Amino acid sequence: MQVHVADHPLISHKLTVLRDERTDSPTFRRLAEELVTLLAYEATREVRVEPVEVQTPVAKASGVRLSNPRPLVVPILRAGLGMLEGMQRLLPTAEVGFLGMVRNEETLEATTYAERLPDDLAGRQCYVLDPMLATGGTLSAAVEFLVRRGADDITAICLLAAPEGVARLEADLAEVVPPVTLVTAGLDERLNEKGYIVPGLGDAGDRLYGVVG
Ligand code: URA
Repeated sequence: MQVHVADHPLISHKLTVLRDERTDSPTFRRLAEELVTLLAYEATREVRVEPVEVQTPVAKASGVRLSNPRPLVVPILRAGLGMLEGMQRLLPTAEVGFLGMVRNEETLEATTYAERLPDDLAGRQCYVLDPMLATGGTLSAAVEFLVRRGADDITAICLLAAPEGVARLEADLAEVVPPVTLVTAGLDERLNEKGYIVPGLGDAGDRLYGVVG
């Protein structure tokens, strides 16, 4: 797996404000979107384009446009939804599919509870959005789901990752060809006994949308 930890002062600045427990939900949502747009810029470095010619007011110019089939953006519900707008700002013509994954808080294993995706993902570039790569169970299960549908080009975008999650993805997805790419704003120290990233930013879903009682 290729791991790309974004190294840019604006990304570090926004991530620091996200981490701060005093940051309220509206600010957290706005910053998460901005951060995703910056990460998306890195993540789409290999997005497929095709040559095109346009007429400027002065002369013909050679350029490129996004190829068909369009890239597919897949936010993992619920917290991945908070990353969707930031991604769409950079890729407004991408199609969007949804994957609902739930983590059993005792076993920490993930299962699929909802999906809205094309049946055949062959030839599609897929961008999976999941803010926190913690144990790696959710993202690993999501990527395996997409691979079973035929996806052969997958980039995961996470706000934060833990070394344990990266190691699990590397082990689980070792056989996936071509390799999955991970783009993240930060690789933190470790997981705590509850599966939270340390220092992390807490529960991303709760911080985006508030605590559901
Ligand atoms: N999910 C979160 O929202 N936060 C963590 O730290 C780990 C998993």
